[in-house]
Amino acid sequence: MTVKDKILQCYDCGTEFTFTAQEQEQFLSMGYTNSPRRCNACRQERKARQNVKLQSNVRNTGKYSGNDKKEMFSAVCIECKKETQVPFKPGPSKPVYCGMCYYKIKTNR
Ligand SMILES: [Zn+2]
Ligand SMILES: [Zn+2]
Repeated sequence: MTVKDKILQCYDCGTEFTFTAQEQEQFLSMGYTNSPRRCNACRQERKARQNVKLQSNVRNTGKYSGNDKKEMFSAVCIECKKETQVPFKPGPSKPVYCGMCYYKIKTNR
């Protein structure tokens, strides 16, 4: 499959912009099959606006914990063998410690 740069017109400001092959591959790898409708500038502006909205929501509710949407995995602590929850998929390359053991190891060094 060969991917070529595409010239697209921005939905918001009407400017022509390049949807580069690299960006297209990135889009595909993220599961998007359609082209972006906005140029980079407009996309960033929208993002910035959404961030502002998000931040004001946080201020309003006052209970943003920072890891709301993080997926947690059950794992067994390699130190004390207790079951614990970690925010990453446990694998052979990632030793899993429970909160207590992690703290101990960190403070020992
Ligand atoms: Zn635009
Ligand atoms: Zn432990």
